[in-house]
Amino acid sequence: MIYFIGAGPGDPELITLKGRRLIDEADVIIFAGSLVNPKVLDGHKESAKIYDSAYMDLDEVTKVEIEAEKAGLKVVRVHTGDPSIYGAIREQMDILEKEGIEYEVVPGVSSFVATAAALKKEYTLPDVSQTVIITRMEGRTPMPPREKLKDLASHHASMCIFLSVGFMDELCKTLIEGGYEPDTPIAVVYKASWPEQKIVIGTLSDMPQKVKEANISKTAMTVVGGFLGDKYSLSKLYDKHFSTEFRKAVD
Ligand code: SAH
Repeated sequence: MIYFIGAGPGDPELITLKGRRLIDEADVIIFAGSLVNPKVLDGHKESAKIYDSAYMDLDEVTKVEIEAEKAGLKVVRVHTGDPSIYGAIREQMDILEKEGIEYEVVPGVSSFVATAAALKKEYTLPDVSQTVIITRMEGRTPMPPREKLKDLASHHASMCIFLSVGFMDELCKTLIEGGYEPDTPIAVVYKASWPEQKIVIGTLSDMPQKVKEANISKTAMTVVGGFLGDKYSLSKLYDKHFSTEFRKAVD
């Protein structure tokens, strides 16, 4: 059995109990050394064989996974955050599927939720936005035609922009072209939940400069939208004038 595990955003306490146990029991560990905090692996068996996937291509990674599994070893593939978000996990699963190898996915705390926690914000404020868009800037991976950042910006939903802090000038320019006011709040969180976490708060007009001054060029989440502001309506769920399944309204 091969386990794909979400390691969480960095803080070794932000992995699930199941992920923790599977790492502790593993004979073979493959992890993305460029992003996963190595402390997440602490507690592994002394005999465990550890590979850093940063130095391996898809064929090499799946070869290690398949050979180990066929030898009856317990394999864990440790991804940063949650593997379903920019995890390049599907291509591995499809190869295993073809080989008839069983695998399981264990979710993790994605960096976009660790970012909200660091900022102490809620993405889904009533009357502000009830939608979260997870996206990225076009890099070597092209964006599908209907998902251009400019078009996504027109929704004014809460946006979490991965893998893009290095293009902050273009990012802010594109969001303004998409209809955001230049004074729209934007936040960048570098290494959310790590000891070296940094938070930069600004507007679409001053963030490119602020990010440069803070020397942030990678491993950061950019979030934008009215949810960073202070205007919103109270929830219906806890409104004393509304009944819910569990609680009667007071008149
Ligand atoms: N699967 C991961 C994302 C992998 S893509 C997840 O669910 O979080 C890598 C990108 O994720 C980085 O470029 C950055 O935008 C973001 N990222 C990963 N860890 C982060 C962290 N601790 N703080 C802020 N952003 C992070």
